[in-house]
Amino acid sequence: MPFSTVYIGLGSNIKDPSSQIQRALQSLDDHDSIKLLASAHLYSSAPMGPKNQPDYTNSVCKISTNLPPIELLDVTQAIELEHGRERKAERWGPRTLDLDILLYDKQHIDTERLVIPHYGMATREFVLVPLFEIEPDLIMPDDRPLSAWVAECSLVGLRRLSTHRNYREINN
Ligand code: ATP
Ligand code: CA
Ligand code: CA
Repeated sequence: MPFSTVYIGLGSNIKDPSSQIQRALQSLDDHDSIKLLASAHLYSSAPMGPKNQPDYTNSVCKISTNLPPIELLDVTQAIELEHGRERKAERWGPRTLDLDILLYDKQHIDTERLVIPHYGMATREFVLVPLFEIEPDLIMPDDRPLSAWVAECSLVGLRRLSTHRNYREINN
């Protein structure tokens, strides 16, 4: 398999979310077939689903991988489980770690287990803004610039968490 460029959205809202995300980035980078290329700052966002849960901490990272999409999903779901992710009946309920595969090169995938681009990304500020931070010139799979996606997304306000240093800054 040739190497592909993939963007992953990370989210957590229980059990020390910042640490969950930092450790997930490390787990991705530790994988033999994945190289972490960049990650955005951490952002805080209001919960998308039920409101009686803590705010979310979100980020986005860029990786290079030679894993095919479905095998990458196996890896991200295994990392979620290592973080104690429980799948409950309630949609968008609190979680220790959520890893969503946002983009896989310019591929369009529509299978039962995997939809890429991630179906929610166009309307999610907590995905588009961190992605724009690390890749302001990105051209999306529909051949439009990411900046156009950001301009069309309703922006209600993310808080950038200043305590976190960018992974790229730490490692260089
Ligand atoms: P949402 O998908 O709206 O962000 P969620 O992240 O809470 O909600 P999950 O329970 O984490 O949803 O995932 C449900 C299923 O979505 C997974 O079992 C997985 O098979 C599927 N899925 C489809 N496309 C993707 C993708 N691009 N990245 C991750 N999971 C995906
Ligand atoms: Ca999600
Ligand atoms: Ca998910």
